Order: sequence, then structure tokens, then C-alpha cells
Amino acid sequence: MTQQAGLNTLCVHSARSPDPTTGALAAPIHLATTFQRDADGAYPRGYRYSREGTPNRDALEGCVAALEGGCGALAFASGLAANMAALELLEAGERLVAPHEAYYGTKKQFTAHAQRRGAGLHFADFCDPDAVRAAVAGGARLVWIETPTNPLLNVVDLRRVIASAHEAGALVVCDNTFATPVCQRPFDFGADLVVHSGTKYLGGHSDVLSGLLVVRNDGALLKRLRDWQSMSGAVLGPFDCWLLRRSIATLALRVRAQCAGALAVAGFLAAHAAVERVLYPGLPQHRGHTVAAAQMPGGFGAVLSVCVAGGEAAAVGVAARTRLFTRATSLGSVESLIEHRASIEGPNSPTPRNLLRLSIGIEEPADLIADLAQALQ
Ligand SMILES: *Cc1c(COP(=O)(O)O)cnc(C)c1O
Repeated sequence: MTQQAGLNTLCVHSARSPDPTTGALAAPIHLATTFQRDADGAYPRGYRYSREGTPNRDALEGCVAALEGGCGALAFASGLAANMAALELLEAGERLVAPHEAYYGTKKQFTAHAQRRGAGLHFADFCDPDAVRAAVAGGARLVWIETPTNPLLNVVDLRRVIASAHEAGALVVCDNTFATPVCQRPFDFGADLVVHSGTKYLGGHSDVLSGLLVVRNDGALLKRLRDWQSMSGAVLGPFDCWLLRRSIATLALRVRAQCAGALAVAGFLAAHAAVERVLYPGLPQHRGHTVAAAQMPGGFGAVLSVCVAGGEAAAVGVAARTRLFTRATSLGSVESLIEHRASIEGPNSPTPRNLLRLSIGIEEPADLIADLAQALQ
């Protein structure tokens, strides 16, 4: 399969073909932990022990590498396990430059890992490319990007930030969980590594905890990370790999529908009297809209946040009255979710108290809008 194939085609066909022994179209799930050697001791089929690799993991990793346009991918037991593999590249005395605004679990990892390892950690405002340029000027081994940000939906200028990071000699990691390769391809802008919480859009059905780490083009780096994957042992099991690969067949269909729904919902909310502010890069009035339009050709994503007029109690009340939207954390699934973020992020959360984060599913946008209309009344 070449990169020229369209996205839906890649989603269906990448690293997938009928089972050679039975002709089955659905891939078999190989639960084996160990694989037979030939009489001479060789492993001609490429599999030895399942921590090192399995047929279902190969199928998933090959597919995600093709979708992102990378040379290889590694599947982990969660998004945070994939992050840890990337953070392993940071040695004692080296510096990590990371955004103030990142997934809060990731920020906790930055602080804990840098401290334990004796590495430097510098937080910067990644929505200001000049601030990142200044932060990396002192040298950096890793620069971590997340765009759009969670839950404020700010946009990081990939071209400018990656250029500054590379001038400083850093490797750039981009968390592409929110955008997915359907909306944004960080490798087109020179990112060196992409991480995903596969738990979100890649899985898409709120039923597989998983993470992916993708390498753009550096074979030696891929080998080093693959060794870490096997050594750390935090690999994704065969059934989870199978579920994820199966879900990715509909990734582009789902995400495109979810983006269209998010744009419709954002437009409705922006015009509503009970709403103070809508944060969604697809709205022309959003401060990152121009940059987002240039670097997210496939859509603006399907997560948006809304600040409800009347403060925290009003926001919590809206979430309490929705019927189609489920009150739950996480995002990216076929069902729409609504969440009061500040209360899950804890006492030091910088998130506005009246902010609700919405993850738009694949329901009819008109039904979602009707649900929000009654909840906002
Ligand atoms: C959920 C999430 C993670 C963490 O992934 P898990 O699969 O929950 O470990 C990391 N980054 C972003 C942007 C996320 O949304």
C-alpha cells in the first residue's frame, strides 16, 4: 500500500489481507505467547515470544505507521505508556521543553520523569512561537507538542515551533490524539515522533486502553524504541490490537462525521445567549483559526469547550440536564460526552470553573443540538 492511496483506503487495507491459511477476511486473533522454531533453531516466520511481537500487533503497528506516514509504529498498553517510551530518550542533564497546556496526565509524567532522571524541564507557552524559540535557545533534547490543546483548544503553530526545536538540535514529539491523522499529519511539518492515546479516536468505541508511538524516518531511533518496548514489557495484547485495527477501518469515516458535527454544535453554541464563549478552532473568531486551517486540512477535530454564562453552578447544571451527551471523561468515541473539566483536574487546575468539554460522537448533529438547547434552557 503506498502513501498515495486515499485515507479511507488506507484505513481499510493497510497491513491487512485475507488470512493465508484459511482465506478468512477477518484477521484471526493469535493468542499464542510462544512460536515454534525450525529444526535448525531458526524462526523463519519472524515470531518468537509475544512480548517481542505478535501478528496482531504487527498489523496494528503497520497500519498506524501508514496512516501517519512514518517508518514504523509501536503499540503500548496505554497512551501514557507510549509517552514514557518517548520520555526514555531524555537522559540525565538534558532538557525537555514542554507546553504549559498539555493533557494533565502527561504533565505529571514530565515532572516526575525529569525529576527522577535528573533532567531539566522547562514549561513554555506553545501558542506563542517566540516563547518556544526563547525556551529552546538554551538547548533541548526533546520538545513536546500537543495541538489542539486540552481542554482550551488552543492551536500550536507546527511549522514555526518545529523549526525552532530543530535549530536547537531537539527531537520533536507531537501528541496527535486530538487531531488524528485524519485532520493533521505532524510528520508533514517535520515532527520526529508522533504519540497517540489509542484509547480515544483510533479505538473510537470507549473499549480499548492503548497507546501508539510512531517514528517518522529514523530507523536507528525506531530500533532503539522497539528495544525499549520489549524491555519495558508494556505491550498491547493481541485482542486489544485486533480491536484497534478493526476500529481503524472506520477511523476516517467517523472522524470526518465527528468534525462536521462539532462544527455544527460550535456554531449553535456560539450564538446562544446562555453561553459566554465557545473554544473551537473551526470557528472563524477563534484566535488559532488561521493556523489551524493551514495545518489541519482534514478538519478541526471533534472536541470543543464551552464556558457557560453564570459560572460553575450553571455549567454543572447544563451537564446534569443533557440526555444524549453522557457525563464522562475521555473523548473520541462514537457517543458524545460532556465533562466539567476543572473538577476532574483537581484543586490546582487552571481550567475555568464554568468550562464544559464536549466530545462530539457520530450521532446526528441536529439531535445533539436539540439536547444542548434543552439543557441550556
Ligand atoms: C487520554 C490522553 C492521553 C493519555 O492516554 P491514556 O490512553 O489514557 O493513557 C495522552 N494525551 C492525550 C492528549 C489524551 O487525550
